[in-house]
This record gives sequence, C-alpha cells and structure tokens, in this order.
Amino acid sequence: MANKAIKYRVYPTTEQSIMFAKTFGCCRKVYNLMLSDKIEGYKATGKFPTVTPAKYKDKYPYLREVDSLALANKQIDLQEAFRNTLSKSRKKNNGFPKYKSAKHSRKSYTTNNQKGTVAIIDNKYIKLPKIGNVKAVIHRIPDSDWIIKSATVSQESDGKYYISVLFEFDTVTSHYIADKTNAIGLDYASDGLYVDNNGNIGTNHKYYRESHNKLAKEQRKLSRMQDSKKGEEKSNNYIKQLLKVNKIHRHIANQRLDNLHKISTEIANQYDVVCVESLNMRAMSNRGFGNGKTTLDNGYGMFLSMLEYKLSDRNKYLVKVDKWFPSSQICHCCGTLHPEMKDLAIRTMKCNCGLTISRDQNAAINILNEGLRLLTEVA
Ligand SMILES: [Zn+2]
Repeated sequence: MANKAIKYRVYPTTEQSIMFAKTFGCCRKVYNLMLSDKIEGYKATGKFPTVTPAKYKDKYPYLREVDSLALANKQIDLQEAFRNTLSKSRKKNNGFPKYKSAKHSRKSYTTNNQKGTVAIIDNKYIKLPKIGNVKAVIHRIPDSDWIIKSATVSQESDGKYYISVLFEFDTVTSHYIADKTNAIGLDYASDGLYVDNNGNIGTNHKYYRESHNKLAKEQRKLSRMQDSKKGEEKSNNYIKQLLKVNKIHRHIANQRLDNLHKISTEIANQYDVVCVESLNMRAMSNRGFGNGKTTLDNGYGMFLSMLEYKLSDRNKYLVKVDKWFPSSQICHCCGTLHPEMKDLAIRTMKCNCGLTISRDQNAAINILNEGLRLLTEVA
C-alpha cells in the first residue's frame, strides 16, 4: 500500500468557514488543556498521565459542536510531541511541547474517513463530518481504487482555505510496463484543443458554447448598467448582475475542467506513450509567439499537466518534443522541409512525393515520430 496526499483549494460558505474557525479553536483549546493536565499530573505524581479530549466536554460543552475526530487527532499530535521530546534525532526533537497560541499557531485540523464520512462528491465538493459538502477545485481526480484515509483542513495566512486529502492505494498497479508501440501524437490547435496523428480532433468547445453565448448576453447587460451608472453608487441590481456573470464564469470554468479531465483520462487509459509539443505558454500569452498559437483560453497547459500526472500514475509516458521542432513544416512521408507552411493560412500540405494532408495531422504525425525517437534515445 502507498499513500498520497493531494491538496485542494476549497471555497467554504460563510457558515462553513465559521465552523472551520470553531474547529481550529476547539482543537487548540483541547491541545492546551491536555498539555496543561499532563504537566500538572507530572508535578503531582511524577508521571505524565494519559489525557483524552472527552474529559473536557462537560466543562466546555461547545467542544461537542465540532468534529470529535479532529479533537481525537489532537490527542495523537500531543502524544507524538511527547514522543519526539524523547527522540535523539535533532530533526524531530523540538523540545518540550509548547502551548498553542491563537495568534501564531497553524489554523488546521485533521479528520478521518469512516466509511464515506470524507468523500469527493461529483468532482466539485469535498464532504466533511459536521461541515457538509465544501465547494472545491478538484484539479486532480483520484483513481477509482484510491481510498480516502483522512483530510486536513487548513487556512493559510492569506485567508485561503485548503483541504489536503490523504489517499491510500495498492502499489501493484504501478508495475505496469508500458507498450511503446501504443502511442499517439497530439498537435496543439488554438481553435479546439488538439489534432492527433490520425486526424481526430479533440475539442472542448462544444461543451460550453451555449454557456459562452449566455455569458456574452449577461455581460452586455452588465456593461449597460455600468454605463448608465457613471459616478453613482452601484445599485443592488448591478451587484446582482455582477454575481450572475461571475456564476456563469465559474460554471464555464467547471465545465471546461470536467471536459479536460474526461479527455485526458480517456487518452491516458488508451495510450501508453503520448507525444506533444512543449509549448511555452507564458511566452505565447505575452508576446503572441508569432505562430497564431496565442490563445490560452482553451486550457491546453492544464490539459498537458493532467496528461502528465495521469500517464505517470499509470507508469506510462508523456514525451515533450521541443517547441522549435518544425513539426508543421516537414513532410512526414519523405522528410522534405516546406518553409511555406510557416504561413498559418495554408491548411493543407502538398508535397512533391505525392502526399496531400491537413497541416495539423501532418504535424501530429511528426510530433509522434520525433517523440518516439526521443523515447528510444533515453531508454
Ligand atoms: Zn513528401
């Protein structure tokens, strides 16, 4: 068995963030009470007594309002701190356990999964005991056979919330030996997502065109409201419209993310080697790159990083071909260089060898061949 923690950004409701704050506070309170009782016990008997959070629940009934496993984990933390005090390793030994101050201690707590009390719901929420479903950006979907062990909620100093989910999984699956002939090449397409070496088009457009139209409509409405409200205080209607527009934005982002996950999972399941162009996304977005690949809007960078970890999880390969490799200028059949293909308006390559092929498919074939060459070079 192996473990892996994935940290997700979460967006709790006001009510949920109040519960988080309460739980952080109760954890700190219980930790300090237990530490104090241990010290007092030692003074009285010469031994550190065993202390449990349950002991304090009558005196501080509000402790019952929060996740009891979060408090139980504080007991384990304290035991660990005591054990480390005795440890000879300098790295572990931070000296005698200290009280946690409200100001300086880390705002976090850990809870355990007990038969589904912690779960990822619809790839949109993380379910927690006493909290319910917390809205989350599931940038990374665990494999179906991964089991959730625990979740650590934290609030960083900038106020952002995260949940780090600890998974357990069988390592047997990672002994898979990739078949290097089961390969695909992908050419980036700014107007879709990619074109593969078989000429298939991967796209994420169709899924949210409707939402885009809706967004455009609501945005026009918003800007009309803005124009008519020059200098004036923003009306309730304006705020309402702004929230509406933001909601559509979020919906589109989620749709796109879902679709990128779907496509990248399909590819990672089907192929053992995926060859792509390494694109310098920042240079493209800042300076236009001069090759028409100026749009980042279709999430290609995110798509590549999903492919990268999904393939690596399966013991498969993502091979990045240098971005200067002239994939769209070489005839994949005879190797002739066609500098005229630098002109993006030319969508079809016609070569003297008799080949006529779409520019994107030809590029994808070249990326595939170059990727496989690189792969055997390394191996
Ligand atoms: Zn040719």
